[in-house]
Amino acid sequence: MTLDNILEEIKKAQNIVVLTHESPDGDAVSSSLSVMHAVKQLGKKVDVIIPEYSKDFNFLPGAELILKEGTIKNYDLAISVDCTDLKRLVGSKEYFETAKTTIEVDHHSVNAMFADYSYVDPAAPSCCQVLIAMFEYYGVEITKDLATCILTGIITDTGGFQWGGVTPETFEFAAELIRKGAKIKEICRIALRKKSKAHCELEKLVYNRLEYIEDGKIALAYLTLEDYKNLNTEMGDDEGLVEMLRDIEGVEVAVLLKEKEGTNGFKISLRSHETVNVSDIALLLGGGGHRGAAGCFIAGTVEQAKTKIVNAIKHELEK
Ligand code: 5GP
Ligand code: MN
Repeated sequence: MTLDNILEEIKKAQNIVVLTHESPDGDAVSSSLSVMHAVKQLGKKVDVIIPEYSKDFNFLPGAELILKEGTIKNYDLAISVDCTDLKRLVGSKEYFETAKTTIEVDHHSVNAMFADYSYVDPAAPSCCQVLIAMFEYYGVEITKDLATCILTGIITDTGGFQWGGVTPETFEFAAELIRKGAKIKEICRIALRKKSKAHCELEKLVYNRLEYIEDGKIALAYLTLEDYKNLNTEMGDDEGLVEMLRDIEGVEVAVLLKEKEGTNGFKISLRSHETVNVSDIALLLGGGGHRGAAGCFIAGTVEQAKTKIVNAIKHELEK
């Protein structure tokens, strides 16, 4: 069974590297650190490589150990978490490609199964929930540090237990993690509700540029590189903006186009209430994600990207 094989590989490896997807969110950073804490219990040397992430996650126990690049070139074992395919391991892909053995743990329903051992549970609302189930099976001790990381991943990827995939089991895990010492109030304040001033300025821009399309079923806004530069933003400042559009009355699909440096194009964030499957829309354009939250990249000007994404959404709405 894959779970047993994974444990065996971890036990065999002398040096391990943990990797996650580009523009890492709370679940990505928390999953990476959770694996680090668990693997350390087995007495292994483990590096976590995340080239860039929001400083908001520096409250997570072990965040001070996150590296921008590896301490060696060829690891015995590479573990990817919360990532759908190899091309999303931006800045850390080489470590995955050169590792002797590879493992991935994920919860996205469309996953390229790109490792020697892929463990994917699409029913789980966060990768951290997949991990806690694995750790229980392995008999890993859930320390306060580990509990804090896991609960942060669950909370950020479910918008505080509100989004798809949350089941009674999610609350049972959360209760256990709180018993182990995770501070839910602190986690929610820092990882869920805290907004920077730059975020509030981006919020103003998004509301000013908000367009309703298809009788208000689509809410769309965009942010340019110039906006980000003018406001001196940091990574993570635009988190939560697309959800804000999704929650407007009558909106079925929310779209935020974010111009990306050095790409001549836009990263597209899509959200829905899960009646419309935005993952299908993103997949059509080479991206992916979940039924209610997905993304892709579109090259071109803002007008070109807008036309392309709106046509793809209209096509999905007509289904
Ligand atoms: P976000 O809009 O927050 O960047 O991403 C929402 C969800 O879609 C996340 O689960 C994220 O992993 C996924 N996602 C975003 N962009 C891409 C992409 O280009 N490819 C794939 N496969 N998934 C993506
Ligand atoms: Mn996730």
